Amino acid sequence: MHAWRAPRAFDGHRFLPGGATVLVEGDRIVGVEPAGVAVPHDCPVAAYDGTLLPGLVDAHVHLVSDGSVGALERVGEQDDDAIDAQVARSLAAQAAAGVTTVRDLGDRGYRTLPFRDAPGPGQPRVVAAGPPLTTPGGHCHYLGGEAATDDELRSAVREHADRGVDVVKVMAGGGFLTPGSDMVGAQYAVEAMRLVVETAHALGLPVLAHAHSTVAIEVALAAGVDGIEHFTGITAGGAVLTDDLLDRTAAAGTVVDPTMGNDRSVLVALLTAPPPAVVEIMARVGLDVEGFFAQRYVDAGRMRDHGVRVVPGVDAGAGPMKAHGNAWRAVLDLVTAGWPLAEALAAGTSGASEVCGLAAETGALRPGLAADLLVVEGDLAVDATALGRPAGVLLRGERLSA
Ligand SMILES: [Zn+2]
Repeated sequence: MHAWRAPRAFDGHRFLPGGATVLVEGDRIVGVEPAGVAVPHDCPVAAYDGTLLPGLVDAHVHLVSDGSVGALERVGEQDDDAIDAQVARSLAAQAAAGVTTVRDLGDRGYRTLPFRDAPGPGQPRVVAAGPPLTTPGGHCHYLGGEAATDDELRSAVREHADRGVDVVKVMAGGGFLTPGSDMVGAQYAVEAMRLVVETAHALGLPVLAHAHSTVAIEVALAAGVDGIEHFTGITAGGAVLTDDLLDRTAAAGTVVDPTMGNDRSVLVALLTAPPPAVVEIMARVGLDVEGFFAQRYVDAGRMRDHGVRVVPGVDAGAGPMKAHGNAWRAVLDLVTAGWPLAEALAAGTSGASEVCGLAAETGALRPGLAADLLVVEGDLAVDATALGRPAGVLLRGERLSA
């Protein structure tokens, strides 16, 4: 047995006023005590002067991509060895930032599954979707998940189940990364999406829809998906999420991941010289880059006000602002959007873990759960930015070496 101790702690739901000593046996938490508790003399204690909390969860990553411009598209031309090497690098970057669980929502060739099934030392836990379902030539078609007809959709879902994915990801609408994909409309009709949902649910798999446009969001909602990624509300007249849409999303219990967590320093560079393709696509849907991001904060606050369940994923690997290890930024963005700090932290730990189907495995400081711990420098309760200063990471009971 060994222990991790800090004078301040957040347990995945609330701050613990007395800090915490977390007792670890093998890969499990076996006790959560106040910081001042006496431990057996043969129990080594790693004592930190910071805040102890569960490891973070990034609910939307692309491990196959390093986030450089065009990286996701290039995956379509890479061999398995090159992809596997990038998956390993992405996971290492996630772990170094205190992320102990990632949900991968789009790989190629199911390359993330071996990492899920046989995690190496210091590797975060992986929840995997495999290649996202998309229309021929549609958003992220280069990842290999094209399916158009009912038969193709049915067999694509069955193949994903046979390969052992945890969740099915479907591109309900177009995306910024696929020039020419439909950013305002939907890729599939409601009936086709419903077929995907019914087939997946019958096989015990949840369905997550990628949807930027309001039209695609409506299709996904009508089809009964379990979660919607991005949820931007793009219309021909700009980004619009009506109160009614938010109310119906909340009533349906559909989980929304607004995929924030952008690195602001990269954003500043982007605002100075935005890539022409981004400017073009933004102009086409009536948005400017700066206004787009400002609106995201407003809408993330409104999602909470309307009772929508939100999970903070980054879409890590999707672009230069979305580095692997940005999960803390996604949590901070909710705080910027007006969320109470403890609620935002809970969303990024216990909440995200539950949404990933892992509530009984990780996401909180609780005996019986995996010893996935993060210590950050400073007092997180009064300085939310401390979340971006990891001082120690424990993955399934093993300390991540620096
Ligand atoms: Zn994505």
